[in-house]
Amino acid sequence: MGKKLLLHVCCGPCATSSIERLLQEGYEPVLFFSDSNIFPHEEFIKRYENLLIAAEHYGLDVVLDEWNHDRWLEAVRGHEDDKEHGERCSLCFRFNLERTAEKARELGIENFATTLTVSRFKNSAKIFHEGEGLPGFCPMDFKKKDGFSRSIVLSKELGLYRQDYCGCEFSLRDRRCAGS
Ligand code: SF4
Repeated sequence: MGKKLLLHVCCGPCATSSIERLLQEGYEPVLFFSDSNIFPHEEFIKRYENLLIAAEHYGLDVVLDEWNHDRWLEAVRGHEDDKEHGERCSLCFRFNLERTAEKARELGIENFATTLTVSRFKNSAKIFHEGEGLPGFCPMDFKKKDGFSRSIVLSKELGLYRQDYCGCEFSLRDRRCAGS
């Protein structure tokens, strides 16, 4: 049996190549869907359901966190108009990583990592900076070894839904503005 690791998952597509890599490296990942940043709630459910498809494919357990969007909005207050990749995103990373650290402690799992590093639109160094100092945080960069391209291939194979905005209402607004 491999070494347990709690994997914070942002969505099914990003989970695929991260899981594949962890399994190849001898880990036994437990998936943690903790994404109070996602808006609206229907989108949270849609991403969760797609993660379940990936989890079933790899035979892994999923732990679901509550959707506490109000608490997340509190955490990013004052940064609603920040551009994507700015301070709001750093606060958002921190929010989800803190919840994952708490859950890892609760489950007695020593280490945790996040699939947020898969996306080529997210700076892994910024994510690592927010995870620094949280007990058990492993700075694993899942976009390495072609992780992002691999996630596209694997999610196509599994027929997963791939969203076209990052997750919060502000990224949805900005995507709509860019598209208009
Ligand atoms: S754009 Fe994405 S990373 Fe940034 S605050 Fe919104 S959900 Fe979080």
